[in-house]
Amino acid sequence: MKLNYSKLPLKQQTILKEVSKARELFWQNPQYEPYVKAQKTCAYDRKDILEAQKLWERFAPLIRYYFPETADRCGRIESPLTLTECLKKRLEKEAGIKIKGELLIKRDSDLPIAGSVKARGGIFEICKYTEELAERYGILKPGDSYLKLAENKSREVFHDHTIQVGSTGNLGISIGIISAVFGYRTVVHMSADAKEWKKELLRGHGVVVVEYEGDYAEAVRKGREQSKRDSRSYFVDDENSRSLFMGYATAALEIQEQLHEAKIQVDREHPLFVYLPCGIGGAPGGITFGLKQIFGDQVHCFFVEPTQAPCMLAGLLTGLHSQISVQDLGLTGKTQADGLAVGRASGFVGKTMEHFISGVLTVDDEKLCPAIRMCYETEGIFMEPSAGSAIWGPVRLFAEEEGREYMKKMGCSMEGSTHMIWATGGRFVPDEIRKQLLE
Ligand SMILES: *Cc1c(COP(=O)(O)O)cnc(C)c1O
Repeated sequence: MKLNYSKLPLKQQTILKEVSKARELFWQNPQYEPYVKAQKTCAYDRKDILEAQKLWERFAPLIRYYFPETADRCGRIESPLTLTECLKKRLEKEAGIKIKGELLIKRDSDLPIAGSVKARGGIFEICKYTEELAERYGILKPGDSYLKLAENKSREVFHDHTIQVGSTGNLGISIGIISAVFGYRTVVHMSADAKEWKKELLRGHGVVVVEYEGDYAEAVRKGREQSKRDSRSYFVDDENSRSLFMGYATAALEIQEQLHEAKIQVDREHPLFVYLPCGIGGAPGGITFGLKQIFGDQVHCFFVEPTQAPCMLAGLLTGLHSQISVQDLGLTGKTQADGLAVGRASGFVGKTMEHFISGVLTVDDEKLCPAIRMCYETEGIFMEPSAGSAIWGPVRLFAEEEGREYMKKMGCSMEGSTHMIWATGGRFVPDEIRKQLLE
């Protein structure tokens, strides 16, 4: 779509011009609403998350059977939440500001099976589909153990079906591994941004990897077309998927439990700020949705995007959602943060979440590697460049006018605040590439 700037209010025009110059921005979402009001416009609620959690529980024995590394969490796909005193000091020194409150890292970078936040959405969606298929084929009867799904008879049925997905890398890894392990034929359509090692990893699992010259949107389009031609093929549609979204949303229940265990309160005197790297929006959107259902107005969720691929910012700012791409703004969509190299945000997520998201901030590519290096040096925690974008979140909140204005407007008492960097990926990055990224 060709954008008609002059139709937009003056303030938006000014911001959009900054966006199109690839300037770093801290954007407060003017559409943000108090929880009760925002929730009225939302088609989903807390019940949907609790239902999603039950599906995880039904599948836990099967996950545990196939992935013994999840045995200590009883087949649940969870990651540690780590308090980071040293990174906080280092960031303060680097930026010359004070970060009030505690700094935590949610380490989805270490999630089992897929090594990224995509383990939550992707595995959830394949489990949901598998349950439906198993019921349709009479494999699962009420009361059956889900371990039945690992028997040869079930696997033969799955082998007769194909799972396909378009990906910049990590969604492909998540969907690819779980689908192949369950016994499906699996095809992953990879965009040009996808890293070579991610393709190799998948091929090692027997997944068919199809490569494209084009960007993520093309990989998705081609994958969707191919899948349509085969009645026994299921396409995981990152742009519109409700089940990916709910899989991500259940992360909020885990956070609630972990904060409780760590004796960290979230209430009026103790607001929670969360910084989430954003690509198409499914992961940060689903997680924000979940957190809002649990913590309401006491949680403030900011999305973080690369300055060359701020698709969610463009969609929210103009109200055009998936009808506008970063290329329409003259940006390249290219970034080192391969997980965030998305030109067009999910319209479903944008519309569902527009009143829940506190704001979006954009980060220059050249700040990604220094951030992951700081985190590795101070805490020994490794994450990939996409995830590194969120490390700047707390710094920017305190350093920038817009951030300080937000805190004031919300009447947040910052002394008791908690800041959570959502580390979205990293575990499977090969040693050699880790070294390059950290140097
Ligand atoms: C996919 C991904 C994201 C963002 O998730 P979206 O659902 O695309 O918004 C962030 N970080 C990493 C490492 C990812 O792989």
